Amino acid sequence: MKCPYCGGDCINKMIVEIYLQSVKKYLKYSKNESVGTNNPTAGEVGECKETGGRIYLCPYCQKPFKAPFLKDGKGSFKCPNCGKKLSVPVTNKLFC
Ligand SMILES: [Zn+2]
Repeated sequence: MKCPYCGGDCINKMIVEIYLQSVKKYLKYSKNESVGTNNPTAGEVGECKETGGRIYLCPYCQKPFKAPFLKDGKGSFKCPNCGKKLSVPVTNKLFC
């Protein structure tokens, strides 16, 4: 998995694993129950060592992407890789 900014090794693999495990449970749950407008939260998986930009991960296509992303005004946005709807990470609220 390469950094979307510089192509280097900026992504924290441990955070990626923890994130994907927790989101897996969420995706399983949301398939069985109708959770409505709740989208899974994008994972914050590191910071580019070159540019300092934050790196996010999509739980659907599991590809990293750059911030900032475009919000639709409801706290969600679309993954630039696969187009699925995601929620903005809580840690990113001020940033947006
Ligand atoms: Zn995606």
